[in-house]
Amino acid sequence: MSFDDRRRNVRSLLFFLTALLATVVVSFAGSFAGAADQSEAPLGPRYTPTAADRALPPGPGSGPQIALTFDDGPSPQLTPYILDVLAAKKVPATFFLQGSNAAANPDLVRRAQAEGHVIGNHSWSHPWFPDLTPQEAEVEIERTNRLLTELTGARPTLYRYPFGQASPGGDAALARLGLSQNVHWKWTSNRRGDFECPGADALVDYLLTEAEDQAMILLHDAGDTIGCPPGQLEYLPRAIDALRARGFTFGVVERSPTPSPVNGGTLAAVVPR
Ligand SMILES: [Zn+2]
Repeated sequence: MSFDDRRRNVRSLLFFLTALLATVVVSFAGSFAGAADQSEAPLGPRYTPTAADRALPPGPGSGPQIALTFDDGPSPQLTPYILDVLAAKKVPATFFLQGSNAAANPDLVRRAQAEGHVIGNHSWSHPWFPDLTPQEAEVEIERTNRLLTELTGARPTLYRYPFGQASPGGDAALARLGLSQNVHWKWTSNRRGDFECPGADALVDYLLTEAEDQAMILLHDAGDTIGCPPGQLEYLPRAIDALRARGFTFGVVERSPTPSPVNGGTLAAVVPR
């Protein structure tokens, strides 16, 4: 073998090793990308309790009581932060979960339940109920209730329609399944909601404006709100602190035989958790 032949051999060996390395790197990257696909979404921010949070007294306190209600979740982008804040601030909340999102994020459903929040049903795929047949309406509601019962060990009894839009077929299904009729909310100001991305300052103002004894406040932890700038989320710890400073306390939604005038006649009340 000549010197040139040996050099060629060394070169082809180097070429082979480089190709092998490239293949390994590419397939590794591929498997990482696959893993990211499976966990389906980038994780959102988290909240770290402040010294003031840690000094909060236990118990709901006394004073006018409101319920924070979060629709459309859970989502890996927003729900962990919201649960962090609620835990740090010792605030119970009511979550109206979308079945398809609960199926994709079962651990977040279990976490919300374990941390003392109320879990309600918000349909499987968030459709416009007036467009559904009675049978389709029942499937949307029933499938979600079955999954939430399976995940939490407790059967949800509260239902909120997507867009708050009821239908006769849906109402009949709710009655048959032993669920509440639509749990509405209070929204009497012209303030914009979180799904319109008005930013943290505007949302603090929305909460302070809508707050009144027995008010059920409409918020979201998924859906369109995921696309808002991440800084918007800071509304939550700020609004809770500001509401407390004004004497408000925080409860959860519970069915009631008496219509709630504050919340569009909803047959539910805000009660201490
Ligand atoms: Zn919704």
